[in-house]
Amino acid sequence: MFDPEIIRSHFPFFSHHPELVYFANAATTQKPASVIRGIAGFYEKENTNVHRGLYKLAANTSQKYEQVRQKVADYIGAEKKENIVFTSGTTAGINLVAQSFLAPRLQPGDEVVISIMEHHANFIPWQQLCKNKKANLRIVPINKKGELDISAFKKTISQKTKMVAAVHVSNSLGTINPIKEIIDISHKKNIPVLIDGAQSAAHFDIDVNKLDADFFVFSGHKMYGPTGIGILYGKEEFLINMQPAVFGGDAIKDVRIEETIFADPPKKFEPGTQNIAGVIGLGLAIGFLNKINKKEARIYLNKLTEYATDELKKINGLEIIGRAKNKSALVSFIFENIHPHDMATFLGAENIAVRAGNHCTQPLMDFLKIPGTVRASFSVYNTFAEVDRMVGAVRETEAFFR
Ligand code: PMP
Repeated sequence: MFDPEIIRSHFPFFSHHPELVYFANAATTQKPASVIRGIAGFYEKENTNVHRGLYKLAANTSQKYEQVRQKVADYIGAEKKENIVFTSGTTAGINLVAQSFLAPRLQPGDEVVISIMEHHANFIPWQQLCKNKKANLRIVPINKKGELDISAFKKTISQKTKMVAAVHVSNSLGTINPIKEIIDISHKKNIPVLIDGAQSAAHFDIDVNKLDADFFVFSGHKMYGPTGIGILYGKEEFLINMQPAVFGGDAIKDVRIEETIFADPPKKFEPGTQNIAGVIGLGLAIGFLNKINKKEARIYLNKLTEYATDELKKINGLEIIGRAKNKSALVSFIFENIHPHDMATFLGAENIAVRAGNHCTQPLMDFLKIPGTVRASFSVYNTFAEVDRMVGAVRETEAFFR
């Protein structure tokens, strides 16, 4: 049986902050004891570099590091562990694809298609690349509910489109995008697709093979793992033909004065000493996630989100931003007369942690003609009682400003 209280007991953070309602999970999730202790244990007992030392401890670390690669591959349904590149996070993964994959292929007049709901991490790398290459960034709008306009998407892509990049789950609206449909439509025109899975990697069933995704990126810290570690999944045929964007040791086969021959992927994209403890921590986070029944977790989170939405809607003057039919575990809201930062500050004084602002989706906020939202994002350790506390505090704040 799914029990948020039992799950919560695995997170030491909450015993240090018994009064805190933590609803900033879309920004970063808390970490279970297994991840925290595992990282500390690695540094205490096993700390060595990977792929270099020939002594036993170093060989063990290298083995563990590669085992996590396999674990990640299994977690997202990748064919092989060689499809998995360790990065520092979603942002780094997208930049790598923009620089190593798309830059050499993009000609003046070509187009890159994204949506208006993209996080800056999936916006700026394409915008800057298009600027440098005199290519055009085309942006697909959303409807009033915050859902991607699929018919506009179909009209936007063309022979000129060299890349489609789309977020799986919007961090501002909670919208779950129909990524399989996006990929299928794009592939009919032979356009490769990158999916930003930063907000979906924790509790969604990801199967990159079934999706036929060309690239899929996510971050460890939004799925109970450490910061500074992330994943770029890429199809083999693409990774093989990509030139690395960052150069250095350990990512090579042969280096001569005249020339360097790079290692096979994924190694060629991992130059220099990597975030080994981060990789170990990510492996433990996946181990933790694998023990949670994903289906039950999603049902629980949907109920919690519906409850929060229904209760918030009863408050005078509150407007929910993002009312997609398929929505993840977050609720964004605004008041006409209360700035999101003021609301979040008042909630903060009541020990309720929410995020306020544009959530790194400024073009989306411009599109919606709002300065930002207050966002409460939920995780498997959150409870209905916590939602009640937040709703009470929002109601009091609204009354104060009235
Ligand atoms: N995309 C989305 C949808 C996100 O929510 C975030 C993080 N807020 C990112 C990309 C960037 O992730 P990171 O900061 O871990 O690189």
